Amino acid sequence: MKAPHPRYRLYTSSQSYLPFAMDLFRLKEDREQARLFQEALAAFLGTERVATLPMCRTGIYLTVKNMVRPGQEVVMSPYTIADVVNMVILAGGRPVFADIERATCNISAASVRSLLHAETGAVLVTHLHGIPAPIREICRLCKQVGVPVIEDAAQAFGARVDGERLGTIADAGVYSFGTYKNINGWYGGAVTCRDPETFAAVQGELDRMPTQSSTFVIKRMMKGLVTDLATNPALFKALTYWIIRFGHLHAIRSINRFVEEERDLARRDRVPEAYLGRMTAAQQRLCLAQLGHVDRNNRCRAEKASLYRKGLQGTDAIVLPPGDCGDPIYTYFPIQCGDSLAERGRLLRYLAQHGCDIGPQHLKNCADLPAFREFHRDCPNARKAAASVVLLPTYPDYPDGDIAHNLAVLGDYVSGRSS
Ligand SMILES: *Cc1c(COP(=O)(O)O)cnc(C)c1O
Repeated sequence: MKAPHPRYRLYTSSQSYLPFAMDLFRLKEDREQARLFQEALAAFLGTERVATLPMCRTGIYLTVKNMVRPGQEVVMSPYTIADVVNMVILAGGRPVFADIERATCNISAASVRSLLHAETGAVLVTHLHGIPAPIREICRLCKQVGVPVIEDAAQAFGARVDGERLGTIADAGVYSFGTYKNINGWYGGAVTCRDPETFAAVQGELDRMPTQSSTFVIKRMMKGLVTDLATNPALFKALTYWIIRFGHLHAIRSINRFVEEERDLARRDRVPEAYLGRMTAAQQRLCLAQLGHVDRNNRCRAEKASLYRKGLQGTDAIVLPPGDCGDPIYTYFPIQCGDSLAERGRLLRYLAQHGCDIGPQHLKNCADLPAFREFHRDCPNARKAAASVVLLPTYPDYPDGDIAHNLAVLGDYVSGRSS
């Protein structure tokens, strides 16, 4: 059996390491660099007010804190990072989980409508997998009752609806420049805000934060470097794949924990210090250098997604994302097959046995997590999605030959299951 290409690659290049490390040791904070990056972001996003963030989740914390009165409800998707729920709670909001649509994995306007009232503090809309949620309908509904809308575009930087970038359509939007996102500053993010006063308040809090420690950023970079090397196609094919495959097929926990991303599912009692350090000038320089490649990379992934769609269309056993949600950027092409963890386990095992490197979406249905028991709501679609979503690789260098192989194996699996 031939080894496939890795399921993910970081959006870094050799330029991301040495110059970045040297940059860090200049230490002096570079206000000019911050201004340049913010101007470039504003131009790219086509919006006026943008500030950079320590992390995307810091932006969720700050926007909720400045837009919602303590104790007010925040209607949100339960199918997101558990820490996003923590940020809403720590900012004074009360999460109200609105179920998602099975195919899009995003909340629908109908589920928001059923939970919305004049006293709602905000609606937080996640555009998962780079696929736009029905943001215009949700904004229209919320406008009628005077409730602000915040977009979590952490996975959708560059995606559009009718030419407008996600994250700039509602009252506020947040982006992530974390290690695995489509701009990689090792850590970091950005926030947009429509209302000048809210923006000034958010910006004020950000300005009072200390700069992220260089040691911390270097540690992040080193972790990224290890991931980058391990997923380098040559090394991956010769070694990493076989280790990961062995760990998967033999349930070796010490190996599997390297590919399990969502492990911190605890309730927090305060915002960790690392979430409150401004991006360094070196990180901003690194992100700025990647901004010019974003649209091209996004187009590449959309093409890969359309290959998957063509290959899987008409397969009744597989739920695909719909093809008519604005201009998605498909950070991955998410598919669902079956409703249970056991069924996903069987599929992933079959894929591993047949020479694919394909993994599950690790996000949980936060509405069911013990940490958030007091906010539990029955969200059956989120429960099924959390058990069944599998992410097909779409990154720009992922070879079309591997896509064809993945499709063939999936086809065999589905026809074997139905016969
Ligand atoms: C990655 C991600 C975040 C958090 O981004 P950080 O920069 O790590 O805080 C939030 N929401 C979604 C949907 C994400 O994928």
